[in-house]
Amino acid sequence: DTAMYKAKELSGGNCQFYEQGMDVRTLDSVRLENDLYKALENQEFLLFYQPQVDARTNRIFGVEALIRWNHPVRGMISPLEFITIAEETGLIVPIGEWVIRTACSQLREWHNLGCSLKMSINIAAQQFKQKNLICIVHSALAESGVPAELLELELTENAIIQNTDLTLKMMGQLKKLGVKIAIDDFGTGYSSLGYLKNFPIDTLKIDQTFVRDVTVDPNNAAITDTIITLAQNLKLDVIAEGVETEEQLNFLLSKECYYMQGYHFSRPLAAEDLKSHYFSEQ
Ligand code: C2E
Ligand code: MG
Ligand code: MG
Ligand code: MG
Repeated sequence: DTAMYKAKELSGGNCQFYEQGMDVRTLDSVRLENDLYKALENQEFLLFYQPQVDARTNRIFGVEALIRWNHPVRGMISPLEFITIAEETGLIVPIGEWVIRTACSQLREWHNLGCSLKMSINIAAQQFKQKNLICIVHSALAESGVPAELLELELTENAIIQNTDLTLKMMGQLKKLGVKIAIDDFGTGYSSLGYLKNFPIDTLKIDQTFVRDVTVDPNNAAITDTIITLAQNLKLDVIAEGVETEEQLNFLLSKECYYMQGYHFSRPLAAEDLKSHYFSEQ
């Protein structure tokens, strides 16, 4: 029975029995929170990297860094399960700093191999509010010696509408450092389009919920088409995420959206796997 299977899975082998409707989530997230406090010093986090591809040539031009938590008992935990907890507890700040530094030193390593890939890093709303984010990015760039323009920070609409004055200031300082700014999950947040003209944004990422049904749902096709046109008219880069099929790929190509990311090309990979898949032939 699926409920029992889930309980077993979540507790990492110690099968728990519970009635349907019992609030296990709360208890579960308390446990996860306690473990999260120790995860950084225990070095339980790692970054996976998902290729971003120019679909015209099939060439990889960048990667998105995606955090994974290798929990000692539960195994690999998705960020969807712990990023919210990390934001609520403030742990996202040190975790986010670790992500930035790790991604930059990884970029340095690839750079030394002659691969100047672009690196996209997800920045949580809570993290974007921290003024020392600028210092962290600055020092990570300085320590790794990676060219700033190879770094792109992905922000969500919800992160940038909370305090638009602070957002403008933060973005201005990030642009001064030379890094790029992308809006992740574009079109799914609670923001107006007005910010696109005020904020120094480089890239729109079309959310996978639009891309998923693009060939079967006319509304999603219309939204995707419109986002692409919007980006083109504003002279922004546009990248589609969650591309899984040839049909989706062809739809996007027909709309002149060339940058794509998704399982059709590759799942997120460990650094070593990315290297052996993509760098060995170059
Ligand atoms: P996101 O930034 O929108 O990342 C894209 C998510 O879609 C990733 O999930 C990726 O593995 C998944 N994905 C990529 N291609 C496909 C596809 O073709 N089909 C499907 N179904 N999924 C695809 P992941 O790695 O589980 O990350 C989930 C979310 O967690 C991310 O969404 C991002 O919001 C957050 N996240 C991940 N890493 C970090 C991080 O280092 N810091 C912060 N603050 N958030 C992170
Ligand atoms: Mg992202
Ligand atoms: Mg996204
Ligand atoms: Mg997402």
